[in-house]
Amino acid sequence: MIIKIKPGASQGDIDYVIGRAHSLGLDTHISQDDGQTLISLLGDIQTLTPTVFRGLRGVAQILPLRSPFRLVSRDFQAERSVVVVGGVPIGGEQIAVIAGPCAVESQQQLLTTARTVKEAGARILRGGAFKPRTSPYSFRGMGEEGLKLLAAAREETGLPIVTEVMAPEHVPLVSRYADMLQIGARNMQNFELLDAAGKSQKPVLLKRGMMATLEELLFSAEYILSHGNHHVVLCERGIRTFEPYSRNTLDITAVPILQGLTHLPVIVDPSHATGKADLVAAVSRAAVAVGADGLIIEVHPEPERALSDGPQSLTPQRFAALMVEARRVAPAVGRTI
Ligand code: PEP
Ligand code: MN
Repeated sequence: MIIKIKPGASQGDIDYVIGRAHSLGLDTHISQDDGQTLISLLGDIQTLTPTVFRGLRGVAQILPLRSPFRLVSRDFQAERSVVVVGGVPIGGEQIAVIAGPCAVESQQQLLTTARTVKEAGARILRGGAFKPRTSPYSFRGMGEEGLKLLAAAREETGLPIVTEVMAPEHVPLVSRYADMLQIGARNMQNFELLDAAGKSQKPVLLKRGMMATLEELLFSAEYILSHGNHHVVLCERGIRTFEPYSRNTLDITAVPILQGLTHLPVIVDPSHATGKADLVAAVSRAAVAVGADGLIIEVHPEPERALSDGPQSLTPQRFAALMVEARRVAPAVGRTI
């Protein structure tokens, strides 16, 4: 439930409404929407009747929420959010392209990639230092060494960095280096991790679990926002279906559905969605056309030698060609890249 406060109501009137909510055992979240104060009621509101707030001085309107989520919903905030990552906006008119290797492997590999993707128009650098791998014997990332290399690449190129954090106890460490924390598909419902990322106040890239519904994704985002961290970007990266020709099945419909339900920016990961470098450009064009607020794409100077996700990684040349194509599609949907 959201209470809209009358324009011009006094602080005393607002405090009275908040006091009433607290006396009912509810938490409140105050926000501004187009100059209007909104009080969101948080907690167990199942049995609450709006009448307890009706008639209070200062109350303009009581809105029952149409969706089960609160802070992430467009009922809570009608206008679209823009999440700023190290100075780069995600969610505005310009589509934000994030690119870089699946995993940080060496200074040489990372810097070569960072320089070339920047030249082609990427605005944020990606690279995993803590890698979630299906097999415990696969390369699991360079850990803090990798974070240091990412920070050095940012230093040289000016590109902000996004990197994955897998454990709640690693959030402070990763936050010291990264501009944005990535929570991967496998951890989308690691609730301790969501809590820790919410408390960190760093921008968060939250990827959809490979078997998660959109409602589950939104509830996971709600965890982060419920700690006061509203800087969340959602990522559709394909879900697991019966179809083996692609690594996952990109749920392209997720983009407009999510944008209708939430004010948070929504980006697409064509690399993990397809698992095949040959498919990445076509799916990127589709993502731009459907209205995605950004793309996150894996690029490696020598994909055949990559320590993870080589088959889906683009060479810098192929990435540059993709950017040219995506730039042609963007104006058709009123965007730029
Ligand atoms: C990644 O971005 O490298 C990654 C592991 O992605 P996901 O969590 O979507 O599988
Ligand atoms: Mn990867």
